[in-house]
Amino acid sequence: MNNSASISYIFSSFIGLTRTCHQRCGYCSFFEEDAPLLSLEDLRKKMIEISSRNATEVVLVSGETPQEYPHIQIELHRNGFSSYTDYLLAACEMALEHNLLPVLSAGYLDEFTAERFVEAGCSVRINLVSSSLSKPGQALEKARGRNPSGGKASIEALHKAGIPYSAGFVVGIGETEEERLKFIREIGRFCTADPYLQDVRIVPFQPGSSCAMSSRPPLPFESIKTVLQVAREAFPVHHISIPPYLFYRYPALAKDGLNDLGSVPILTGDPSYPEFEVPSFETMKARLEKANIVLFERGSLCTPAALNRPEIASALTHTRAIIERRNASGLNLIDNEHCFVCGTRNENGLNIPMKESVKDHTCTFSWTPGPAFQGYAGIVHGGILSTLMDEAMAHAVMNNSIVAVTADMRIRFHRPTPVGIPLKFVATRVGQRKNLHFARASVLMPDGTVLAEAEGRFAEI
Ligand code: SF4
Repeated sequence: MNNSASISYIFSSFIGLTRTCHQRCGYCSFFEEDAPLLSLEDLRKKMIEISSRNATEVVLVSGETPQEYPHIQIELHRNGFSSYTDYLLAACEMALEHNLLPVLSAGYLDEFTAERFVEAGCSVRINLVSSSLSKPGQALEKARGRNPSGGKASIEALHKAGIPYSAGFVVGIGETEEERLKFIREIGRFCTADPYLQDVRIVPFQPGSSCAMSSRPPLPFESIKTVLQVAREAFPVHHISIPPYLFYRYPALAKDGLNDLGSVPILTGDPSYPEFEVPSFETMKARLEKANIVLFERGSLCTPAALNRPEIASALTHTRAIIERRNASGLNLIDNEHCFVCGTRNENGLNIPMKESVKDHTCTFSWTPGPAFQGYAGIVHGGILSTLMDEAMAHAVMNNSIVAVTADMRIRFHRPTPVGIPLKFVATRVGQRKNLHFARASVLMPDGTVLAEAEGRFAEI
């Protein structure tokens, strides 16, 4: 695993359940006192969407013991739960139903709570701090039980319950360098041989505008390097990651022991750090390849103790097949909502709702080209018509189990297409031979006049 020429990542997705938290960590950009609880209905909608895009895990992010707040208790009862743990258990079950491996990021779990998650099929992310920092004005002044021994107790509880976990080290929140490095070494001795430890995360403090420590500067790069070197010694065989918002430092840090990007929320961003953008998969890949580093996908669980759990068997088989297929294809086709034609997150795109336009391998939609899409005056550019027919045919071919790319296409322009008229696009899959799918598309005027046609072949990946 410790190979500086390759870096792994998990195709993850994050869902914020509630920002309400009974802690008040000074470095936190996530906490909001009156934040609502995500309803089960909304949670299910998000899971369906994430699952349809072939993410392999979902990180359920929440404040710690939010049920201490009355408004959360009311919401829990409204959703039919007698406790927050029951709500989290239902969320884990829902994730597995949608073939997503659930990861809980909900603060420290005590022994009794951990016991309840034994058969939930989840793994857990915990963040450790290396110093108590509970004096007035310090980072953990208002946080109860957030100290080095609280983190260790949480690890012990997870180990005892047999729940896989990821250990994060929050660094740069006011601890001395000596405290920081000593603690990492101590936790290394404590759990590097634990078969339930999945990976290690280094989480350097970043001053978000909404956190109480917004004026504190982030840890210097040299200090992060030292942390990584010490973590690598303390955890010689584990994946060690740094959050995606520090992505631009990855290539340099690979020399110091960084070998993982961890859970990269490509589709959803990270609600814990809303101000820091998660780079697209393509950006990360291109950047790392320039530094001669290969990016490859891994699953969130990696030790035999974590993998041999019957409750995750079905989702695990599904996610492994996806990962193998993506790694083997060399083409990692991730829809991160930035597609020029249909991506809802692409501010310069056309934002045409392609997926909603498909029924029984036929894609139908209308689009009115403005003057920005013209070639000669008043006439729509043939290139944009080709793009839309290509996209429509691809969507006619694809469904939840078919992912395909254009192999070739042929276009015939019958008449000039006028600007400003609502055009109708129709595309249908017409056949298949081995992994090649055939499709046809037309562009029509409102009166049915055919303006252009296309035929294409699409290679299933
Ligand atoms: S860091 Fe976690 S435990 Fe601390 S306030 Fe934020 S959400 Fe709560």
